[in-house]
Amino acid sequence: MAKYLTKQRKLLLDFLSEHTDETLSAGQIADALSGKEISTSAIYRNLAALEQEGRLKRSAKPGSQEAYYRFTDDEDCRGHLHLSCLRCGKTVHVEEAATDALAHQLAKNEGFALDRTDTVLYGICADCRK
Ligand SMILES: [Zn+2]
Ligand SMILES: [Zn+2]
Repeated sequence: MAKYLTKQRKLLLDFLSEHTDETLSAGQIADALSGKEISTSAIYRNLAALEQEGRLKRSAKPGSQEAYYRFTDDEDCRGHLHLSCLRCGKTVHVEEAATDALAHQLAKNEGFALDRTDTVLYGICADCRK
């Protein structure tokens, strides 16, 4: 049983590591993995476990009830902001210097301490604006 779970988890992790720059809903992940040896309930269970381990970030999209997930195995991603495209779901990693500049500006003008790990800004990416 444990081995079977590990295999399902690996399938999910493989998929997520190929889609690190996308923000996906659990439904989209389940669709993409349909036909593979992983059940929908196993996907949801593993997503919840990965979120608890801090390897997945859950976010809500404006105008949607569904939870979206972004895979953040990357240590580098803790220090900078992320932009998420509402059209294609792509994640843009904001340069650390630009993140610092914005955080500094917000602290100075608003007295606001930005949580750069959890903040995702939504908009339309450069490719989708073409
Ligand atoms: Zn990043
Ligand atoms: Zn886009």
